[in-house]
Amino acid sequence: MELTFLGAAHEVTGSCTLISTGGKNILVDFGLEQGKDTFVNADLMVEPSKIDCVLLTHAHIDHSGKIPLLYKNGFTGTVYATEATCALCRIMLLDSANIQVSDAEWENRKALRSGGETVEPLYNIEDAQEAISHLWGCKYGEERQILENVRVRFTDIGHLLGSACIEVWITENGVEKKIVFSGDVGNTNKPIINDPQPVKEADYVVIESTYGDRTHEYSKDADTVELLAEYLQETFDRGGNVVIPSFAIGRTQEILYFISQIKNEKMVSGHDGFPVYVDSPLANEATGIFLQCTEDCFDEETRAVIQQGINPIYFDDLRVSVTSEESKQINFDTTPKVIIAASGMCEGGRIRHHLKHNLWDKKNLILFVGYQSAGTLGRIIYDGAKKVKIFNEEINVRAQVGLLPGISGHADKNGLLKWINSFEKKPDQVFVNHGDDIAASSFAECLRSEHGFNAFAPFSGTSFDLITGEPVKLTQGIPVEKKVVKKDKGQLAYERVIAAAERLLATVKSCKGRPNKDLARYASQIDSLRDRIKND
Ligand SMILES: [Zn+2]
Ligand SMILES: [Zn+2]
Repeated sequence: MELTFLGAAHEVTGSCTLISTGGKNILVDFGLEQGKDTFVNADLMVEPSKIDCVLLTHAHIDHSGKIPLLYKNGFTGTVYATEATCALCRIMLLDSANIQVSDAEWENRKALRSGGETVEPLYNIEDAQEAISHLWGCKYGEERQILENVRVRFTDIGHLLGSACIEVWITENGVEKKIVFSGDVGNTNKPIINDPQPVKEADYVVIESTYGDRTHEYSKDADTVELLAEYLQETFDRGGNVVIPSFAIGRTQEILYFISQIKNEKMVSGHDGFPVYVDSPLANEATGIFLQCTEDCFDEETRAVIQQGINPIYFDDLRVSVTSEESKQINFDTTPKVIIAASGMCEGGRIRHHLKHNLWDKKNLILFVGYQSAGTLGRIIYDGAKKVKIFNEEINVRAQVGLLPGISGHADKNGLLKWINSFEKKPDQVFVNHGDDIAASSFAECLRSEHGFNAFAPFSGTSFDLITGEPVKLTQGIPVEKKVVKKDKGQLAYERVIAAAERLLATVKSCKGRPNKDLARYASQIDSLRDRIKND
């Protein structure tokens, strides 16, 4: 019985852990690496065809995004997740496949022009569909036998709709051990979904540490709703639009929840029935999934709203656009309105189109509702750029720019400590993952020195024997070598000759109209040059 850490080890993305027991292999999460890559991930170690099943904590792509690749490479087993996670994965994995395919197409067009090598997408739509057809929805709190010697239970961890920590019981040679995977631990007081639920006991715990070295500044829902209402009132009073760049899944539904409350409590006056456009097919599909969820996915406040007969995230003036034609129509509606579109950091998606139409006019408000990474268009606007380039057009930034502080999806250090301290008896060993190098190491140190846990932050490739509790293999982090794009001399010389040939062609093209005998002479000179090069 072994546990091997593969992904999100001293890193935040690419979650993946392998359980091996009695010849069976179970993967817990198989996510894509996104953004900064610090350490090299160990290979999967087992052929995908030798994996028996996958347990998935939640739908975020850094936990689920490589599952289609397993099917592409021969895996045929089941993916167990909560029902809501399965529903979200049905849209997110297809979206991810579309991105993989279009990224590869873009690379290949570039390669064709430069004579470079073509690439294959990581996986395609059929692979994603194969994965989707193998999703198996579990209810929160229900124990399920997934293999002869393994049973699991999903408990709400309050990070995203459907998110769970997974309790895994394994029996080998008459000995039973229990491992709990925290998944991404949510924050308390997040709108719509539950707070993280405690787990009572475990022999081993694998816990995330995204904010293991930090605490959040807290804002209450009530303050957020009031601030949003103020922004809407001011902007509508001057006849402007509120444009909100937002992530399609999670944050968009939270904003709808706040707006629904603003409308129900008439917190904006003089603009009854103001329209709210959600211009993102993915966001609209996700909203549909939120609307179909069973009540156990929601927190007490949301359940109370539902019981009053009010839909918490849907209202009469909500307009959804699916086609790009519907999207374009939004800018013909001159009434002050809210436009919500992806992507959250304005790097792609329909938001760019709305920014183009709204940024130049000082009546409008661009309202950021999430963190903007350095270098993104969102960050550039947020930092006060006077002009930005969108679709190759220079646009003046004259609209007001605002920020609606959000509640992070992740527990901070105190939240993580609260969850791990809710175990009645200290687990034999706590493994810390899913945090950058500093956060993971410092959280493990805090667990050891201040809370008396046996805690350890393993690097990728480290394995533990779960019967003895001893390490089987201990690895050190292998830093990812920074790719220095240094052209070799051969490449430079080649590029020089190509440039010379292009200059020659340009000169030849400029000879149009010269006497025929001159043109004939040039042609034979070029032919003899070509023969010389060919036979060199
Ligand atoms: Zn997550
Ligand atoms: Zn995560």
